[in-house]
Amino acid sequence: MQVFRQDKKRWREFLIRLSRSAELIAPVKTDLLRFEPITDPEQIYLEKNAYFPLKEWFFRKEEVIFQFTGNKLTVPAFTAPKQRIFFGVRKCDLNAIRHQDMVFINDVGDPYYKAQREHSLLLGYHCNTAPSQYCFCGSMDLVDFFDLMFYDKEDYFLIEVGSDRGEALIAEHHDLFEQHNRLITQDEKHIPGADRLKVKDIAHLYDNPGWKEGVDKCLSCGACTALCPTCYCFEFHDETKLADPQSGERKRFWSSCQLQDFTRVAGDHVFRKEREERFKHRIYHQLDYFREKYGIQMCVGCGRCIEGCPTRIDFVDIINRMERPEKKEA
Ligand code: SF4
Ligand code: SF4
Repeated sequence: MQVFRQDKKRWREFLIRLSRSAELIAPVKTDLLRFEPITDPEQIYLEKNAYFPLKEWFFRKEEVIFQFTGNKLTVPAFTAPKQRIFFGVRKCDLNAIRHQDMVFINDVGDPYYKAQREHSLLLGYHCNTAPSQYCFCGSMDLVDFFDLMFYDKEDYFLIEVGSDRGEALIAEHHDLFEQHNRLITQDEKHIPGADRLKVKDIAHLYDNPGWKEGVDKCLSCGACTALCPTCYCFEFHDETKLADPQSGERKRFWSSCQLQDFTRVAGDHVFRKEREERFKHRIYHQLDYFREKYGIQMCVGCGRCIEGCPTRIDFVDIINRMERPEKKEA
């Protein structure tokens, strides 16, 4: 992969140029850290990973699937937004987009998701160290998935090219980059302090009583799944107005496997009635079931589901203790 160098003054100029030709979206600190459109690089906050992942930009919280009037259905036009450039995306979130692409594009060809993903460029920001005590991306099998990746070297950036589109972006602004004469090393790609999860294959732990620690504290609130960059449960609702009940919209909304109603079906049967089943389902989908289907764990180790959990349930600690019970007594 080609590598370029850019001093920080030029980096600011680069982002200003990008914001003039496209919608530039980066982490901004408001109430909490989230990805927002920006016009000035000074708005960008890179000290921590964003509290909210990028997911909502592609798999939207609310999506109109079709409108109806009587028996007539109208599907909205799949208009892709104009070019959007996302800057400051961490390795965990880049891989999470890759996993969502596997589901929504490769697997089912979802036109709503595809329209949002089109014309989006992903510019990564490498973590020099784990940005939170809850991160464990180093324990997961993450890959390079970006158009450009920025490695922060204090006074300057090294920039690794990950795609033709990334290369074209640099070519377009070649006056702001210098070709660098070496590749990014594996040591530079390593993220210290991010390898907390000791075992990813947890099939043998399903009946372990150690899960009780998490199950007993779980409120089934769904915060973990809303904050997770890879979770993709959804449900449909038909919305009409009282004045005209023949017309309305079918919408897709984010949902959560942690809610009891998520598996409620006709006849009032609930497939995962017990909190323990729901709690374990989330962890096993992340680490086991997705891997069975797609060959890789869905979880990318961002730690958001732990940081955002109101009772701070740390499933990584729970698994580590189940796997090595002697550690619990030490
Ligand atoms: S955020 Fe915590 S309490 Fe809420 S459903 Fe998830 S694990 Fe349970
Ligand atoms: S399960 Fe938790 S740690 Fe894994 S990707 Fe989702 S939010 Fe991040």
